[in-house]
Amino acid sequence: MTNQKTARLASTSRTRCAECQNIKQRRARALQSGDRPGAEAATVAMGVHLRVTHP
Ligand SMILES: [Zn+2]
Repeated sequence: MTNQKTARLASTSRTRCAECQNIKQRRARALQSGDRPGAEAATVAMGVHLRVTHP
């Protein structure tokens, strides 16, 4: 049962990793504070991160 931990990690969060959640949180905060450029930057960062880390 060595991959039980991995399976649990995958099912507990829709995002793929801590960095994904980081960026999502940054984007949500930027949107809440009306920081549209910040939100757009976070969206771009998310796209880059997905391509680089989750190909
Ligand atoms: Zn990620």
